[in-house]
Amino acid sequence: MFIDYDTFRQRADKLRMLMQEACRTGGRDPAGVTLLPVTKTHPAAAAEYVARYGLPAVGENRVQEAVDKRAQTDAHVRWELIGHLQSNKAKLAAAHFDRIQSVDSEKLLNQLDRAAEEMGKILPVLLQINAGNDPAKFGIDPVDASRLLAVALARPNLRIDGLMTIAPLGTTPDETAAHARRTFANLRTIRDDLAGQYGVPLRELSMGMTGDFALAIAEGSTLIRVGTALFGRRE
Ligand SMILES: *Cc1c(COP(=O)(O)O)cnc(C)c1O
Repeated sequence: MFIDYDTFRQRADKLRMLMQEACRTGGRDPAGVTLLPVTKTHPAAAAEYVARYGLPAVGENRVQEAVDKRAQTDAHVRWELIGHLQSNKAKLAAAHFDRIQSVDSEKLLNQLDRAAEEMGKILPVLLQINAGNDPAKFGIDPVDASRLLAVALARPNLRIDGLMTIAPLGTTPDETAAHARRTFANLRTIRDDLAGQYGVPLRELSMGMTGDFALAIAEGSTLIRVGTALFGRRE
């Protein structure tokens, strides 16, 4: 059975307290870090809770799941794609998501740009970078990030808001934390380098999940993507 709204509200209050603590410790302005609740695998009611709580957007990792859910609710939230996008779903994703965080190839950039043009809209995207050099993770290799950004900036129907990454897991909690820190620091460095090189802000650094959001905030995250801490374990 899915949690009730009060449970969600308590968890969200607690999470926001922990976010503020991490901001204080890291010398960050709490206004510079946004919470993106990840509603994947949960019912459409999850998006309604998020809207009622006053948060602006939800994250989903599968295109079709989000399309179905969006049809079931008129919750006043934006929908962001955070999971891997196959190019045969690019058009559907461009039509149904308000932002796509998982863009990691030139092919996807081209398809999303064409789809956005057909719909007469500007589609906001993030470039997903494999900043932890994890062979098991999606995202473009950091050495290819500059070339991908150059292509992205030349696509008139896309708006490049920033970068996204997922940290690789370790075999122990200490190793996982070390990977997370290194990955997040690396993404921030990549962002700073690219922003300087191309003269664009790339303001958004989407990094940090339930297990590592405090480390991500310490390293400069502007958007943490949290599912488990808000909605419980996924089946
Ligand atoms: C599922 C998912 C999250 C949320 O993970 P939790 O550990 O449940 O907070 C964040 N980012 C991405 C890309 C995900 O797929």
